[in-house]
Amino acid sequence: MSFIGTWRDEIRIDQEAVAAYIGGELQPNAGAHSGRDWGPFDIQKEVIDLCPTECMWLEDGKLMINNRECTRCMHCINVMPRALRIGNDRGLSILVGAKAPILDGAQMGSLLVPFVKVEEPYDEIKEVIENVWEWWMEEGKNRERLGELIKRQGLAKAISVVGLKPMPQHVQEPRHNPYIFWKEEDVPGGWDRDIAEYRKHHQR
Ligand code: SF4
Repeated sequence: MSFIGTWRDEIRIDQEAVAAYIGGELQPNAGAHSGRDWGPFDIQKEVIDLCPTECMWLEDGKLMINNRECTRCMHCINVMPRALRIGNDRGLSILVGAKAPILDGAQMGSLLVPFVKVEEPYDEIKEVIENVWEWWMEEGKNRERLGELIKRQGLAKAISVVGLKPMPQHVQEPRHNPYIFWKEEDVPGGWDRDIAEYRKHHQR
């Protein structure tokens, strides 16, 4: 399990500083790449188009963010640290399943809990650990790592084990990957369909 500090509320935007970056008065990336002339800073190309969730845009010269879809990747904040700051409601993201290559290939961790508060006596965090542990003990095969179990049964199962609902932060690109999967009991009539009847309404 990996525990990574994050925030739950909105990214704080200083629109004056955004304008200063656009106008060239402030150096992007805190001047880290200033050893070479990369041309004038292009906020569209260097920030907005590189946001993995496509949740940023400019409106009348102001930078807007749809925080519900932001995966907290930190890219925009790293490029414009004087204009963008993380929110004040801070806590942890919990990732699971990272592993070295023994039975299967090496694997990066998957985001399981997008946000949890870090407050004594840490009951919420302990509950996540216990639920994952129990699932792994029940379902894991001999020598199967947690990451391999997640791969075998699916991330959707792991998310349900900790009692969460899938949300945009669980996928890399919420606009491109589906992240809500219907269960049979959620669909009227279940999976059984009269295919001829279905085709009447859904012509090829
Ligand atoms: S932190 Fe990442 S995902 Fe969120 S708005 Fe910035 S670039 Fe987009």
